[in-house]
Amino acid sequence: MTARLLIVGPQGSGKGTQGVRIAEALSIPVVSTGDIFRANIKGGTELGLKVKAITDAGELVPDAVTSEIVRDRLSQDDAQAGFLLDGYPRNAAQVGHLDEFLAGRGEKLDAVILLDVPRAESLQRLTLRAEQEGRSDDTEEAIAKRLDIYESETAPIIDLYEDRGIVDRIDGVGSLDEITARIFAALEARGIARVSA
Ligand code: AMP
Repeated sequence: MTARLLIVGPQGSGKGTQGVRIAEALSIPVVSTGDIFRANIKGGTELGLKVKAITDAGELVPDAVTSEIVRDRLSQDDAQAGFLLDGYPRNAAQVGHLDEFLAGRGEKLDAVILLDVPRAESLQRLTLRAEQEGRSDDTEEAIAKRLDIYESETAPIIDLYEDRGIVDRIDGVGSLDEITARIFAALEARGIARVSA
């Protein structure tokens, strides 16, 4: 069984953590553009040098750059039987790029998991993460910028997917296990079930 999934939610919604849990249970890779950019920055690659200032400011990396990276990643062997996208697409242009790429392979997204968390709670969690992890884009200014971009550019893409009937809106407030269970209940209702051990 294949599962082509996208997890969306404001920064600080816990989508990274939940994404890893879901992907592991379904035996599919997580494709996180944020992680790819951070790995490149850390490794000092050409891409990393290009995107460091942009990500530090909480701005979006140009769509063409980001979409090419995702196409490359999704073309690898381990992503043929499914994947979970985290952090991409983040605006309408990227939705178009992804649609085009998947359509070219006769594929489409099966479900979009939307983690619903109020802005005040996201801000609080991000501030805590900034203290604990020291990410260079977790400054107060960059955090506010990222949440603004989420609200103005990313939240509207949910409507595009709502029209396709593939959005599962999940209450993202609660314990990690509670939230994971809510996500699985929604996926199972779509016939996407955990791989039993
Ligand atoms: P994230 O870990 O998803 O919050 O991503 C960290 C940073 O990487 C973002 O603030 C952006 O600068 C950049 N980034 C990640 N995903 C994308 C995307 N889909 N489009 C543009 N920039 C992105």
